[in-house]
Order: sequence, then C-alpha cells, then structure tokens
Amino acid sequence: MLDKSFIYGNVMVGGIKNKSWPRMGSKTINFPLSPPELVRDKLSINNMPSLPKWIANGTEVLFSLMMHPVTVSQIEYLDDDLKRVRFSGDLHSASYVPGQVIEFRINDTEFRHYTPAYYDQEQGVCDVLFYLHDYGPGSQWAERLQVGDTTKLMGPGGKMRFQPEHQYHFIFGDESSLGLCSMLKSAADAQHQEYLCLLELAQAHCHWPNLINLQADVVTKSNQSPAQAAVQVLRDMQGNLWETWQRATFYLTGRAKSVQAVRQALIKKGVGAKQIITFPYWADGKTGL
Ligand SMILES: Cc1cc2nc3c(=O)[nH]c(=O)nc-3n(C[C@H](O)[C@H](O)[C@H](O)COP(=O)(O)OP(=O)(O)OC[C@H]3O[C@@H](n4cnc5c(N)ncnc54)[C@H](O)[C@@H]3O)c2cc1C
Repeated sequence: MLDKSFIYGNVMVGGIKNKSWPRMGSKTINFPLSPPELVRDKLSINNMPSLPKWIANGTEVLFSLMMHPVTVSQIEYLDDDLKRVRFSGDLHSASYVPGQVIEFRINDTEFRHYTPAYYDQEQGVCDVLFYLHDYGPGSQWAERLQVGDTTKLMGPGGKMRFQPEHQYHFIFGDESSLGLCSMLKSAADAQHQEYLCLLELAQAHCHWPNLINLQADVVTKSNQSPAQAAVQVLRDMQGNLWETWQRATFYLTGRAKSVQAVRQALIKKGVGAKQIITFPYWADGKTGL
C-alpha cells in the first residue's frame, strides 16, 4: 500500500476500527448486464430524478423486477450529518458489482441515486452512507429514515464499476462519495490491489474518512474554486509516485464541476481518457442527478 501519511489541509487521516459493522467480502466478477439493467440503461430511467406521479407509479410497475422491497434494519449517526443506514431484504435477484449505484423513490415524484458502502447479496443487506446536507428532498428523506421503515431498492446498475484487471484504483470525490470509497477500498483489498482516495471535504467534515476506517488524502473544498486543491495535489504527484499512479483507473465522483476539473488535470498529465470513469453525484443549482 502506498504510504498515505501525507496530509493535506490540517487533517490527520488513518484508521479507527469500527467493530460493529462488518467489512464487505466483495466479489469482483465482471457480471454482464442483466436484462433489466439493459432495459433500464436503454430507457435512461436513472437520468430522470423527477417524474409526474402517475409515470413514477408506472415506472415501479414496469421495473418491478428491479424493485426490491427492503426494511431499514439499522441506523447509525457517525456524525451529525453523516448517517449510515442498513437496508435488509431479499436481494437474491439483485447481483452487485462494486461501484454500482442503487436508487430510491424518495417521494411521489422523485428518485435519488446512492452508492452502497457495503452489499451482501446472500445475507440481503445493503448499507448506504447518507450525507445529510439538507439542501433537497433526497437529503431530507434520508434524514427521516427510521428503523422499521420500508422502501424499495431499485437496481443495482450504472456505469461505475470496479475494474479488477487494474492494480491501482484512484478515487476522487466528496462527502457523497464516502460510500463508493468504502466499497472500492474493500474490492481493492480483496484483490490485494492498491487504492488511493482523494477527497475534497468541508473543513468540518475532514475527519469523516476516519469514521469509516478509510485512509484518504483530504483537501478542504472551496465553493468558489471547485477541486482547486485536489488539482494541486495531482500536479504535485511527481517522480515514482506518479509513475505508479498514472497507470491507475480513475473513478471521479462528487460535485460535477470538480469532476470536470480533475478530469481535465488528469488528461493534462497524460492519463488516457479510457482510464477515467466519471460519475458526477450532484451539480450546483441542479435538482437530483
Ligand atoms: C450515482 C450517484 C450516486 C450517489 N451516491 C451517494 C451516496 O452514496 N451518498 C450520498 O449522500 N449521496 C449520494 N449521491 C448524491 C445524492 O443522490 C444527492 O445527495 C442527492 O442528489 C441530493 O438530493 P437532494 O434531493 O437532497 O438534493 P438535490 O435536489 O439533488 O439538490 C438540491 C441542491 O442541493 C445542492 N447539493 C446537492 N448535493 C450536494 C452536496 N453533496 N453538497 C453540497 N450541495 C449539494 C445542489 O446545489 C442542488 O442545487 C449520489 C448521486 C449519484 C448521481
């Protein structure tokens, strides 16, 4: 594992073990797209965060094969605005590749995407790390979730998938990407591969990686200059360090403008476009993604 003791901002990173939550025994098989996934990808359902109620109802019927009834079985507030929720149910028909996303209907007309931080198809459990920013209905829905609540887990699907054929995995994101980082870290560990997380977080959240036992290089985010500090980190990666990591698969998530800035910086440093997988998780002033 790369020495990740270098620190950006004023954050100490590194491991506090949380014994109450099991680590994922991740499977890194490349599943072909299942028929429902193909249908959904074709109809771009994931790109419609908001629908008229009658269409949203119809969607549930049309995609009933991909709708898995689940119950909230555990809740843990890791911090005031970071909530870990365990959904339990029959997930036998819901195979999962690390990195894929799921979707929830959060009210009559809206759907939101989330990334499992832990997924066990056999046991029928899926954990999600919700960033409770309180800027929209998705965040407020997550805040309201209580043990015993029932909902439907839609998916999994989406283009973000762990690439097991690569030895190095570089993950960029923000508070909303912590679940993805957790999942990809487990997948990389299971394959004895290397991962590097670069996260831009609000000053008050810079300790969050510690809360989920994640080693990460943390930079403080700036609303005015998306990914500015993260891009500087990339520029500073030179010599042997860069020789190694330039071969990685780059998974870029979080704020759309930051994803774009980091992608441009990587291309400028000579990384091939095919090595970069982007999936913006939110965009300034835009509702849902
Ligand atoms: C593929 C995918 C996977 C995702 N996985 C996760 C996950 O695992 N955990 C998680 O917490 N979120 C995740 N998200 C993001 C999550 O879906 C958003 O938080 C959600 O869109 C917020 O919904 P909302 O209704 O609260 O706000 P929206 O209606 O989406 O946005 C309302 C406003 O809030 C602002 N906003 C939205 N998100 C943020 C943010 N993170 N920081 C600052 N301002 C913001 C935007 O400027 C927007 O104008 C994921 C998103 C996608 C697309």
